Amino acid sequence: MFLYIINWKMYFSFRTIGQFCQENYHGFIGLSKLENKKIILCPSHTVLIAISAIFEDFELEIGAQNCSAYMSGPYTGQVSAISLAQMDCTYCIIGHSEVREYFLESDQDISEKALRLLENKIVPILCIGENKENYGVETAKKFLFAQLEPVFKKIKDLGRIRLCIAYEPIWAIGTGVTPKNEYIEKIFEYIIEVSEKICPNTEITLLYGGSVNENNVKKMKSIRDLGGLLIGGASLDFKKFEKIVQL
Ligand code: PEP
Repeated sequence: MFLYIINWKMYFSFRTIGQFCQENYHGFIGLSKLENKKIILCPSHTVLIAISAIFEDFELEIGAQNCSAYMSGPYTGQVSAISLAQMDCTYCIIGHSEVREYFLESDQDISEKALRLLENKIVPILCIGENKENYGVETAKKFLFAQLEPVFKKIKDLGRIRLCIAYEPIWAIGTGVTPKNEYIEKIFEYIIEVSEKICPNTEITLLYGGSVNENNVKKMKSIRDLGGLLIGGASLDFKKFEKIVQL
């Protein structure tokens, strides 16, 4: 199954996301029926229930864009993994570079989030990626290891669980620039190597994210070991997103 994860970020308001889904309802339903392709919609927390209700009878899955590192308690403004599960979320993005940067999220926080999600049967979509200064396979590997190790160590004793890892080089997000396929393949090989060493029981799905659009998607889909794509900007235009899925 090839995954298409839509990260709508905070582009739509409460009203406009509802409108967007109603306007493109039949288009989304069409995509949900394609064989071996799974669409996962990740809107803001405030509309998770509404979006889940709109597509209730169809094979579209709902994901959140973040969750709390804590189970419950005095964490004002946070949303727990338990609530996400009760709102029918089956996936949740964690460690997105925007959250790491603007909310100073640590790798330790992210590893706790992964654990909270897995405890609630939600598949974490762990985002990792190097910045421009760390571009280059060997340098990037060191950068990525620091992001992967705390999460792998935290989940390694959970038995057979699923984890999506979205490799999103920060310099490729929203810039129109993408790495060469060979570069991504080397990074994927490294992620597999580290995961096999630290948490061999974990079933990993490798995703790529960063400026995927209808023009470069064919090239991106030929990346070895690719299990899906995480799409930001291009998901704001349904026609573009539809092409990405169909091509
Ligand atoms: C993202 O923010 O996760 C992302 C992939 O964005 P974009 O597709 O716009 O680069």
